[in-house]
Amino acid sequence: MTKSFDQKLSDYADLIVHIGLNVQPGQKVVVSGKNLFRGAPLHSAPLVRKIVESAYKAGARFVDVFWDDDQSQLVRFAHAPRDSFEEFPTWRTRALHEYAAGGASIVSIYGEDPDLFNGQDPALVTQAQRTMEKHMQPQMELLMKNAYSWLLVSVPHPNWAAKVFPELPADQQVDAMWEQIFKLCRIDREDPVAAWKEHIAQLQDAAKYLNEKQYDALHYTAPGTDFTVGLPAGHLWNSAQSDTMNGVTFTPNLPTEEIFTLGDKNRAEGTLKASMPLSYGGRLIEDFSMVFKDGRVVDVKAGKNEQALKDLLDVDDGAGRVGEIALVPHSSPIAQSGRLFYNTLYDENAASHIAVGRAYRFTLKGGESMSAEDFAAAGGNYSLVHVDFMIGSAEMDIDGITKDGAKEPLMRKGEWAYKG
Ligand code: ZN
Ligand code: ZN
Repeated sequence: MTKSFDQKLSDYADLIVHIGLNVQPGQKVVVSGKNLFRGAPLHSAPLVRKIVESAYKAGARFVDVFWDDDQSQLVRFAHAPRDSFEEFPTWRTRALHEYAAGGASIVSIYGEDPDLFNGQDPALVTQAQRTMEKHMQPQMELLMKNAYSWLLVSVPHPNWAAKVFPELPADQQVDAMWEQIFKLCRIDREDPVAAWKEHIAQLQDAAKYLNEKQYDALHYTAPGTDFTVGLPAGHLWNSAQSDTMNGVTFTPNLPTEEIFTLGDKNRAEGTLKASMPLSYGGRLIEDFSMVFKDGRVVDVKAGKNEQALKDLLDVDDGAGRVGEIALVPHSSPIAQSGRLFYNTLYDENAASHIAVGRAYRFTLKGGESMSAEDFAAAGGNYSLVHVDFMIGSAEMDIDGITKDGAKEPLMRKGEWAYKG
């Protein structure tokens, strides 16, 4: 059965409403844009209308849509008074906050031009960004506490599609990007919502197994890789779903393929070879590997842009240490695409990966309420940066190492090998 584009768009909207937000009867729903206070991009209207329809069909009491137009932002940068970039539409954050505090669901549609601000005065761009971050704080606090269900999804922008599909003629790139999004979000399956329920159950199964195992370390082997990383006592493996404060289960990222925890910032040894390029600070670092000793990177090699990699690892002491460890089977749709998406939502789910830099507090038991010193003493890393790079492949084997030093198979040739 091949679905029409219209049917796939409807299925994407249903996935957002039922698996992503998990809209409850009587609830209010807001459709917004990237960074929350921004509205949904105008070109996402065909999807947004279907989300509105799907939400009402799921029993929503009221659905509100915030719109935005990135070209109007550019006009501001061209003509607005230079001293006006601390102006902010405060009504938008008040509106969002009112909805969120009242338990509404909020979906953020990300479809901006990745190069929108290229060529604009960097000082003004930074000022606008800081102003936004300042006004977003009360909203971010609600979001970090999961006071409401929220979700981030992508729609193609022509300039994004051009980066991902440079080999295609310009008039085919956006269509190819849509097809790719549908495939990666399992919209090509007959019943995508059922497919996601099954997928999420598998992720939870793996996370539960690893949480019970509480391995002392993981050992990775692949061509160019022989690497061991410690796992702090009390580490927690997380997967796709979160619960709101009033107990509604939602899925904040679509797609999502990873289960993840933190590594011990003082225990990483050996050589780790990346399996995909890393896009960092506008430069593409290719064919690279790192050597770790006593938890910190002591040597790097890169086929291209080695200096960019060194710059990243030198941001601060934590930038050269492990913050996150994530496992993704090689059979996941994103891994199978073999593409670089220049978009964290997709690239972070492409393969088993490691992040250097900051560890997430919630990946350690009690981590959210610990002092910075206690978190560090438990092995939790801190840095200004958190940068993920892909290491997984069809050739990667991973063993769990128990506290008494026994090795148990966790992944073989890129796929789960544990017996749960
Ligand atoms: Zn991750
Ligand atoms: Zn990460």
